[in-house]
Amino acid sequence: METNNNQEIKSSKQYHPQMHSAEHILNQTMVRMFNCGRSFSNHIEKKKSKCDYHFDRNLSREEIEEIESKVNEVIQQDLVVKEEFYSINEAETKFNLSKLPDDAGDKIRVIKIGEYDACPCSGMHVTHTNKIGKFKLL
Ligand SMILES: [Zn+2]
Repeated sequence: METNNNQEIKSSKQYHPQMHSAEHILNQTMVRMFNCGRSFSNHIEKKKSKCDYHFDRNLSREEIEEIESKVNEVIQQDLVVKEEFYSINEAETKFNLSKLPDDAGDKIRVIKIGEYDACPCSGMHVTHTNKIGKFKLL
């Protein structure tokens, strides 16, 4: 994939593209369901990943099932995952850039998952959501 900005793919984290793409969908799902913001900390691995959200209680079984089925519903819609570039000024009006590194440059790469999610990110992603596979909360 060719990019025209000077952000580098995060090689240190070695994101697994499927897991990482699922993380984008999970984050948007959590935001929509609970208005809790995107995960503030996460650990993404091929077999099992962890995402932390600001919550003052545990999720109920019903909520967990609802999150799972919503994320899987989005995956099964086979949405196109694409990158778009914004100037930093434009990006500031549309996205939360607080997690962006200081050296991100003046072109911001935004990953869009259909119309479901859009988030600044320099990681690697699948091209279509059905390549993610099945999502399960453990
Ligand atoms: Zn990403």
